[in-house]
Amino acid sequence: MYNPKSMKAEEFISHHEVLETLSYAEANKHNTVLIDSILEKARLRKGLTHREAAVLLDCDLEEKNQEIYTLARQIKQDYYGNRIVMFAPLYLSNYCVNGCVYCPYHLKNKHIARKKLTQEEVAREVTALQDMGHKRLAIEAGEDPVNNPIEYILDCIRTIYSVKHKNGAIRRVNVNIAATTVENYRELKEAEIGTYILFQETYHKESYQTLHPTGPKHDYAYHTEAMDRAMEGGIDDVGLGVLFGLELYRYEFAALLMHAEHLEAVRGVGPHTISVPRIRSADDIDPSVFDNGINDDTFAKIVACIRIAVPYTGMIVSTRESQACREKVLHLGVSQISGGSRTSVGGYWEEEPEEEKSEQFDVSDRRTLDEVVRWLMDMGYIPSFCTACYREGRTGDRFMSLCKSGQLQNCCHPNALMTLEEYLMDYASPGTQAVGQSMIRQELPNIPNETVRSLVRQNLENIRLGQRDFRL
Ligand code: SF4
Ligand code: SF4
Repeated sequence: MYNPKSMKAEEFISHHEVLETLSYAEANKHNTVLIDSILEKARLRKGLTHREAAVLLDCDLEEKNQEIYTLARQIKQDYYGNRIVMFAPLYLSNYCVNGCVYCPYHLKNKHIARKKLTQEEVAREVTALQDMGHKRLAIEAGEDPVNNPIEYILDCIRTIYSVKHKNGAIRRVNVNIAATTVENYRELKEAEIGTYILFQETYHKESYQTLHPTGPKHDYAYHTEAMDRAMEGGIDDVGLGVLFGLELYRYEFAALLMHAEHLEAVRGVGPHTISVPRIRSADDIDPSVFDNGINDDTFAKIVACIRIAVPYTGMIVSTRESQACREKVLHLGVSQISGGSRTSVGGYWEEEPEEEKSEQFDVSDRRTLDEVVRWLMDMGYIPSFCTACYREGRTGDRFMSLCKSGQLQNCCHPNALMTLEEYLMDYASPGTQAVGQSMIRQELPNIPNETVRSLVRQNLENIRLGQRDFRL
């Protein structure tokens, strides 16, 4: 029944195969000979199968776990260096016809304020986001064919790209909307989106159906096969994710990797990103009623094992997580984080009044973008506002082959320095600016190629003189 090349959800995420994987992992979690051979394979930086990765996830031998963490850190360093890409979510509308029991936007919630941004409001939000320094957004909207049809989403994308406030610009719009048709995905592609992101929530079909009792999202197969339709519609870069806490994390982990293997098998390119959200409290939602919550240590182990299993896939953690937790997982494999986020519809331009709250979930990390940028640099990370790949046509398999060969580093590092310089010149507080300039001075000699180094030095000078948007 299990077939990674099948186009049917229940065959590429075979329940039976997941259960077999979990038994295999349980049986081998102390098998040091096998664990050593898996780690040996992982050191080749070519990734692991879902079965191999599941064994590492289950292993509770202290010494082996330390090896797993060390390897995750090394792989992170090899592929992503000390750069962290920054983004912000932008909620367009919380009208939704679905009944997801873990989300306050579910149809039956009558006491949350329902909002949908007009194009003027989108422009205002984008102006505020640009004034913070953001260049990359992930837009979010509930599923509602009347209030949020695809035309509305496309209008919003056009508005976002059109706003140019002072030196600001949103250069990449990633899209997180409900599973849709090939035709709609084609239109999103034509609107020049970056990554299409869709969280699976849970891969466990029975739980999925219980957690999504009503609305179009109830259809497990339609939802799970969405990435195939997106790719058929021409979208090269897709982002996977599960909502940890809904089902047993071991199940989700194995199935998530099977989904990545499926995309690799049928499209020749795995997911561009994997997100690792955990369930949070929100209006009408108490996370303690979901009894599969995971603690910070398990969360960190999941991040490390994903890093090892799919080294070339970016990993995203949002402001759902606290500063302390984000700090821990940054070292282990996360490559992209949000900063200064609002999870309400509107809220960047002006704070929502208490009686009109529309947040999707409580934000744990409430610091400003400037504070997050400064914090990253204090830990030795370069905050990057780079959006170059999509704009240079480096997407899909082209992106992956550059990434797998390690060549992408030659673009990422210089681009991180140049976009950080833009941020420092236009948006940073004096303290952040001083730390950033010193970081750029220190990092510049680390560009190995002399020609690239002098080009970047020249571009940094040009940015200080007022020019913008240099990229490799
Ligand atoms: S998770 Fe998405 S689809 Fe489900 S209720 Fe919330 S906004 Fe709607
Ligand atoms: S060069 Fe490409 S992969 Fe590297 S940070 Fe920029 S957009 Fe991302």
